[in-house]
Amino acid sequence: MRRMMRWAGGLAVLCGLLAVPALADTRGFDPVAATDAYLASVPPEAKARSDAYFEGGYWLLLWEPLYGLAVAWVLMRFGLSSRMRNLGQRFGGKGFFGTVLYAIQYLVLAALLSFPLTVYTDFVREHQYDLSNQGFGDWFGQLLIELAVTAVMAGLATGVLYAVIRAAPKRWWVWAAGVGVGFLVVALLLGPVFISPLFNEYKPLEPGPIRDKVLSMARANGVPAEHVYMFDASRQSKRISANVSGIFGTLRISLNDNLLNRSTPEEIQMVMAHELGHYVLNHVYEMLLSFSLVLLVGFAFIAWALPRVLARWGKRWGVEEVGDPAGLPVLMALLSLYFLVATPVTNTVVRANEAEADLFGLNASGQPDGFATVALKLGEYRKLAPGPLEEFLLFDHPSGRSRILMGMRWKAEHQAP
Ligand SMILES: [Zn+2]
Repeated sequence: MRRMMRWAGGLAVLCGLLAVPALADTRGFDPVAATDAYLASVPPEAKARSDAYFEGGYWLLLWEPLYGLAVAWVLMRFGLSSRMRNLGQRFGGKGFFGTVLYAIQYLVLAALLSFPLTVYTDFVREHQYDLSNQGFGDWFGQLLIELAVTAVMAGLATGVLYAVIRAAPKRWWVWAAGVGVGFLVVALLLGPVFISPLFNEYKPLEPGPIRDKVLSMARANGVPAEHVYMFDASRQSKRISANVSGIFGTLRISLNDNLLNRSTPEEIQMVMAHELGHYVLNHVYEMLLSFSLVLLVGFAFIAWALPRVLARWGKRWGVEEVGDPAGLPVLMALLSLYFLVATPVTNTVVRANEAEADLFGLNASGQPDGFATVALKLGEYRKLAPGPLEEFLLFDHPSGRSRILMGMRWKAEHQAP
């Protein structure tokens, strides 16, 4: 949830400065030159700031799992994990409930040990780059709510995971991937109705020309109006954003209030059409399928690596078999290393869908210049012009330059003859 918010939203400075460059409006223009003209309209200091923010994120990608590894080491080395397991089993027995009680203790203690890094990444850094104006008290309160929700959901998931390991000691990793996806479906089902409202207020769009246009595009593309909402993202962040959340009956599109307050009608149309694209192209289901494969490979890796780690250090830690829940910190550390290595794969899966939604959005809204200016606004927190390899490995959305070029190509092909 926090990670989603982190990647979701912007700086407030640029919007007034972004006039459409003259080149972009001439007949029969060159899309590359038009793209360069848009990029050149960004003041150098704004670009330097956004590059620094985004490149700092590359390091966090590495530091977060390494920090997690250190947390796991502390929990294992000092016998904290096996003590928490004993406590959980004393009150909940050796089966499902004992494991859930252990997992909740683990999640709370791990969150406590990770707190300094969390404060830096999610509060200090966001304020440093002027991406948030949320006070510490409100931020901290929401962090506690998030921890409570995570402890319940992840605690139950861990209980099921270890039941599966005990039931199928050899092939548990296949079933574990299924359990992971099953819990993801539950989280997607509950998210928009029960979880997101704990953090933000969701309302139907207010009547007016913007809503008329958005709902008209929704109808034109077969999306029922009751699936379109607005929420007060400005509580946490200054970023402009919108998203699709939920699954089956709870699937919905949400526009954030920063987008509505800081963007032109053309920009809002384009962003909204992009989100309609996610909806119409069934990206939620496609992502679920892709993610289940990523998870399957991840658990296969753990099934290979965890017994080897435990054979080497397990005795010292008081954990000797894979089915012992006290090995959870090691399992989680291995999983985070796997996700680090898999970053280019998961990024590319997401980025490919984003590019599809962009093209859908251009065709549905017919707003290539709105797309270009909104891509520059998103460039407040996402590096605008990375190298090709950098974009391939580290971007989970197309870069600003890729998006503007896509828009300008579309525009070139839609010039009056
Ligand atoms: Zn998207």
